[in-house]
Amino acid sequence: MQKKFLNSKEISVLIVYTGGTIGMINDPVMGSYRPVNFKNLSKKVPDLKSFGYKLDTISFEPPIDSSNMKPDSWIKIAKLLKKKHSLYDGFVILHGTDTMAYTASALSFMLQNFNKPVILTGSQLPIETLRTDGKENLITAIEIAASKRKGQAKVPEVCIYFENKLFRGNRTTKRNATFFDAFESPNYVYLAKAGIKIKYNYKAIKYHDYSKIPFINTNLNTNIAILKVFPGINENVVKAITETKKLEAIVLETFGSGNCITDDWFINLLSKAIDKGIIILNITQCLGGTVSQGKYTTSVLLKKIGVISGYDMTTEAAVTKLMLLLELNLPKKEIIYYINKSIAGELTEPD
Ligand code: ASP
Repeated sequence: MQKKFLNSKEISVLIVYTGGTIGMINDPVMGSYRPVNFKNLSKKVPDLKSFGYKLDTISFEPPIDSSNMKPDSWIKIAKLLKKKHSLYDGFVILHGTDTMAYTASALSFMLQNFNKPVILTGSQLPIETLRTDGKENLITAIEIAASKRKGQAKVPEVCIYFENKLFRGNRTTKRNATFFDAFESPNYVYLAKAGIKIKYNYKAIKYHDYSKIPFINTNLNTNIAILKVFPGINENVVKAITETKKLEAIVLETFGSGNCITDDWFINLLSKAIDKGIIILNITQCLGGTVSQGKYTTSVLLKKIGVISGYDMTTEAAVTKLMLLLELNLPKKEIIYYINKSIAGELTEPD
């Protein structure tokens, strides 16, 4: 379903509504929010008409709560963006906040040489609510998706715009379930900040080679587990994960700068998994900072048995990057090489 509601002008933005609170209503029977069709966007946000851009909308049928987003949904979005690539100057994806950081991370790896703004946004309160944060988020996201400098997009990246800040998508994490500032980019500066004017942080934005042809990676491998360690973690639980059939990678969420329990049973289980060919990637449970294996004796053994450092990647970036890399049919050595390389600005490579 595609709806055109403004006259064609020079700049064009496609708004893709996937679901999420921004378009939800409070179901009187259930007493909970559920996604509804987001038709007549211009009626809900009449201010959109003042832009004068060509704005088109496409809606997921049915729209979903982002807790139900899956790699198939990312593939659907990526294919749609690829199909519409040459027709629009920028794209705004309306999405629930719960898994927005996963979708943004996945799209940043799936869309290669895309070179156009893909701005994900949503809200904590439905757009129909008086105090909604959705209107400002939507309006500014459109403005960013449309902005140009010297004929080129100001931000040709997959981003999240939320509560006045524009973040690189694969650096974000949802940090707040209640307040409007739902997202954080703990290890990378924001790309823009909206106040009276939108102030762009040009030095932090990634500009690509515009001569390269855009393409999408749509093969994703979900044989991945996240193993979050905690004091008292039990051998049977770790064993159940490391011995999961067909498992190809584990994101090991560790303490601080990549530290873990050093009990023999734990190290032996990880070591056995690595010997079987499972990739284990060390990501810190901390909101910010980087993994530095070997800094403490409690991470020396991890390094020794072949656990790979995820440096300052978020869990969302680590999971989606692995999904993509595992499916590229590369020798394991090369997969490890790319895990430690910044593919889409998702990690800070050590000096
Ligand atoms: N559960 C909602 C979703 O992720 C929350 C939101 O949109 O903020 O779709």
